[in-house]
Amino acid sequence: MGPQENEEKLMKDLETVLYTEEQILARIRNMGEQLTAEYRGKFPLLVGVLKGAVMFMSDLVKRMTIPLEIDFIAISSYGTSTRSSGVVRILKDLDRDVDGRHVLIVEDIVDTGLTLAYLRDVLVRRNAASVRIAALFDKPGRRQVPIEPDYCGFTVPNAFIVGYGLDYAERYRNLPDVGILKENVYRGSDT
Ligand code: 5GP
Repeated sequence: MGPQENEEKLMKDLETVLYTEEQILARIRNMGEQLTAEYRGKFPLLVGVLKGAVMFMSDLVKRMTIPLEIDFIAISSYGTSTRSSGVVRILKDLDRDVDGRHVLIVEDIVDTGLTLAYLRDVLVRRNAASVRIAALFDKPGRRQVPIEPDYCGFTVPNAFIVGYGLDYAERYRNLPDVGILKENVYRGSDT
């Protein structure tokens, strides 16, 4: 399958495109400018949550024109691939010490909020000077714990979205646009 064909196949599994790559990049450019102003002189540590936030992280840091560091953490939340259970575990920890650092968590999407609530607590307990959250997408309608991203790209409806780093069963991360996945795909009846 050629690259063009692959993208076409991925696009066919979308119910609707919510944001094109262009729209996403334009929004990230604004967020980058805002974060540059807010973190000037603070030498922030940006903590990307693997794997969904990889693309957001890479485009965001290119729009921040101040000295900073990046690191990554991998977290598993038990549950099905479309629903998280609230039980969280660190699969790959940070390389950097967060003690005294201004930490910005870079996350793809806040859904129930369970993952971020856990991660924020871990970083606060490790004595970070500050812990804030930048999420590209926010699904406030499904929140189970009171947590809000300090910086948010887009608010999305209560639907399962894929693309631009977000997966379903490890697929669709490479889709440049973001859209709602057709229900028959995750119901396994895509015939
Ligand atoms: P939370 O703990 O807030 O419920 O879930 C956070 C994680 O669940 C996100 O980092 C993401 O990996 C996954 N997630 C939540 N909603 C969606 C969604 O609509 N699409 C995809 N692909 N992943 C999601």
